[in-house]
Amino acid sequence: MSKKQFQSESKRMLDLMINSIYTHKEIFLREIISNASDAIDKLCFLSLTDENVGMSKEDFNIFVSLDPNERIIKVSDNGIGMSKDDMEQNLGVIAKSGSMDFKQELDNTTKEGMAVDIIGQFGVGFYSSFLISDKVTVISKRYGSDEAWQWESEGSDGYTITKASKDTVGTDVIMHVKPDKEGENYSDFLQLWKVMHLIKKYSNYIRWPIQMDIEVPDYRDTGEKDADGKPVMEKTTVIERETLNSMVPIWQRSKTEVSDEDCIEFYKEKFHDSEEPAAVIRVNAEGQVSYKALLFIPGRQLLSFMHSDYEPGLQLYSSGVMIMEKCPDLIAESFYFVRGIVDSPDLSLNISRETLQHDRQLRIIAQNLNKRIKNELIKMQENDRPKYEKFYDNYGRQLRYGAVATAGQDLESLRDLLLFETDVDTKKTLKEYTDAMPSEQPFIYYAMGDSIEKILKLPQGELVRSKGYEIIRLPEEVDEFIIEKLISHADKKFCNIVTQDLGIESEEEKEETAKKQDELKDVLDFVKETLGDKVSAVRLSRKLLTAPVCMTTDGTVTLEMERYFKRMPDLGLDAPKAERVLELNSEHPSFKALQDAIENDVERAKKLAQIYHSQALLIAGEPLEDPSTFAETVCSLF
Ligand code: ADP
Repeated sequence: MSKKQFQSESKRMLDLMINSIYTHKEIFLREIISNASDAIDKLCFLSLTDENVGMSKEDFNIFVSLDPNERIIKVSDNGIGMSKDDMEQNLGVIAKSGSMDFKQELDNTTKEGMAVDIIGQFGVGFYSSFLISDKVTVISKRYGSDEAWQWESEGSDGYTITKASKDTVGTDVIMHVKPDKEGENYSDFLQLWKVMHLIKKYSNYIRWPIQMDIEVPDYRDTGEKDADGKPVMEKTTVIERETLNSMVPIWQRSKTEVSDEDCIEFYKEKFHDSEEPAAVIRVNAEGQVSYKALLFIPGRQLLSFMHSDYEPGLQLYSSGVMIMEKCPDLIAESFYFVRGIVDSPDLSLNISRETLQHDRQLRIIAQNLNKRIKNELIKMQENDRPKYEKFYDNYGRQLRYGAVATAGQDLESLRDLLLFETDVDTKKTLKEYTDAMPSEQPFIYYAMGDSIEKILKLPQGELVRSKGYEIIRLPEEVDEFIIEKLISHADKKFCNIVTQDLGIESEEEKEETAKKQDELKDVLDFVKETLGDKVSAVRLSRKLLTAPVCMTTDGTVTLEMERYFKRMPDLGLDAPKAERVLELNSEHPSFKALQDAIENDVERAKKLAQIYHSQALLIAGEPLEDPSTFAETVCSLF
């Protein structure tokens, strides 16, 4: 029978597995057992609503057997099983779920080094069987079907699916172990002690019994007596089926029984992450609703999280039965990076996704968990600042976007978690900013910009900085929304240095500027007339100290917002526009040059006005409408 070909990524993955020099080949067993456990979860869940399943919780198990002569390890489960189509879809292509992440990685690599990384980071599911096997046979019968099917592959050159016979529902994964070669003792995996050890090491908390038949010594009474008249016993062996795993899931165990290290190991295996989590949160709640939770804040930015099809949510169990793989309603959007498990006996087992959303118990759990996550982060911020800053680099963006996603209703509770850049290499909370600011400082100053260097060079910030006041950098539009919603901190309002009155000048200074503005009205009017509709006003600046010119705006739409609206495809010509105001510094020598030109050479004066405008746009990060005319104008003045 002709072989079917794997999809190209799967083929490359298999090549990597088969030829891998990866040292932790033993993880294959954990992956195969975890698939078996998932399959049992599925059938067990079905049995809650479908009495035809005819199984109860106690009937499910995973059975591991060894045949050293045939060099076979077999893992059998009585879970949901696979149909022919299931085999085609699940074993013929790279696994869909968590494993999607490494598809991209795979595209960037063919090197062994990277393969090791992929295996370490994600685990590789079913394909990891090829780390130790040169042939894998899967025989399975799906629940509800009369037919059994056999999938078989010797590696990347393809696979076959043929009809098979199997009496019971479930799956046998039969791994034909590779021959030993120098430095690779595959026969180890055929030894009972080794396999038992691996099961205890990696799969101890699997909730279904993992069993093996084990020979144990037995003594048989021969019926004879020795010289002293004692019965003569003959030593024999009997085979006993032993359950090797503790089965009590880690989150069900008390803190005294399970160390933080155990939880960290569990995280790494369960979520296929080679890096330790930044925080482990263990909850054992009794009261209105009882539940246990084990949550993790990942220690690095997960590739899967960046993926557009990332599914947020916690795994939800009720009395040890998994009822939902990802329940997003359990965590606030700001905390979507959190991974973990919630187990509550108070939830109804056959609850549907829709009704869950409105479930009162679930809402209470979610509220408490979100509080716990926040407290954990605050604790990290206070006790281990570098760790918190790393966390914020990884997930600060999610915090901020999550906060605005709910129209800002979560924002208040997230206020203390926010960090802002105010100077090169320093990040501050709002509290740290307001605690450190001089008492006479009227506002919390901020500006939008993609680097703090740029903010520090903004002409509009000159006066603020000359007073020693710090300017917060807001990297994205979402931040401006956050600032607007927060309104103030410690009774100090926020002030956008580009668009708002800085509140720094005294009344006399203000009067003086107003007077000067009157005196120089002709010059300002000339510039306004020359620029026409390009600006809504031309004024003398009260923000500039040494710089000649800057662009500010009147009204609520800032230049950043204008840019943002412009990018939104459906707004088109209706996109709101900023009212641009050109501000000039009358103390700057160029201003005098402009005055002279207005009197002596009007054409030149017009050019200078145009150049002022273009300069202000450039500083504000706005594109010039007509850069070549600008260049010509500048050069014509040489
Ligand atoms: P993942 O478990 O991450 O989805 P795998 O490569 O380990 O990826 O498995 C691919 C799919 O094959 C599983 O999602 C499941 O649908 C199916 N599968 C694997 N092993 C079994 C099994 N023992 N019983 C039923 N289905 C299985």
